[in-house]
Amino acid sequence: MTVAHRLLLVVHPPAGQHDSGHHISSLPQLIEADPDAPQVHVLDVSATRGDGIFETISIGRGRPQALHAHLQRFARSARMLDLPLGDLSVWHDAVHQLAEHFVDVDEAWVKPVLTRGIDGHGETAPTGWAYAAVSPDFRREREVGVDVVLLDRGYRSDVAESSPWLLAGAKTLSYATNRAAVREAQRRGADDVLFVSTDGMLLEGPTSTLILRRGDTLVTPPPSFGILEGTTQGDLFTAAEQWGLSTAISPLVPDELLAADAAWLVSSVRHAAIIRSVDGTEIPVDAGLTAAMNGFLRSRRD
Ligand code: PLP
Repeated sequence: MTVAHRLLLVVHPPAGQHDSGHHISSLPQLIEADPDAPQVHVLDVSATRGDGIFETISIGRGRPQALHAHLQRFARSARMLDLPLGDLSVWHDAVHQLAEHFVDVDEAWVKPVLTRGIDGHGETAPTGWAYAAVSPDFRREREVGVDVVLLDRGYRSDVAESSPWLLAGAKTLSYATNRAAVREAQRRGADDVLFVSTDGMLLEGPTSTLILRRGDTLVTPPPSFGILEGTTQGDLFTAAEQWGLSTAISPLVPDELLAADAAWLVSSVRHAAIIRSVDGTEIPVDAGLTAAMNGFLRSRRD
């Protein structure tokens, strides 16, 4: 059987195709579209201003993983940006519809996107789509690990409370700074980044959540520090408790990472990437727990 490697569903038609006066919640449409054909208007604010939100959901053998948590976070991001998300069940159906094309593939991913729409056409109507593809091979990150540098994010750890307009903790399309941080890591001879707040707290990676092991406890920094609440971290903490480990959400500083018994950057699609060094200093690797984590993450169903 041939496997479709890339698929696109337009969740709501672009604003220009909207019947004016219709609210997006009354237009719960899913339209299959050609991922190789141009689909986004050049004036869509996702392209011109990065004004929109997204999620990236892993698919294991055709089943979306942590879908409920991803959609809850999608809805939270929409609220933070004052974006009308419409009916969440439409997004749920879009993700499932795409995922079903990947039953013969071990690992794939789907990315729902919602933008504020097309600029300069009076009142904008949101544009939405979901795109799916087969996952890259992440064996090196999962089995060998990544070298990480600590980079100052330039915000205090209370940024979410002090400056909500900075949208810290929302999953917006404005990832240019996150990509720039990874390029800075590469210039320094590393692979990935762990952001630190100006007041010295460990935060998150540009596309991942930090988890470290201290004895029998897994620890991750609190989302109240203006970081994304990780769906992968959430699922791993549930599994860890079943494996007899304790879990804690608690502030962490760089010295605690250097003294950790093991540490990971976890995320959908890449799953648990081992942190093998921090700013050039090696830290211990727990190969057994990493294999258990990735085995569990790969085989999750919903
Ligand atoms: N933090 C950031 C900034 C991210 O972009 C991501 C995922 O892309 C994560 C954390 C991890 O989130 P999840 O585990 O839900 O994929």
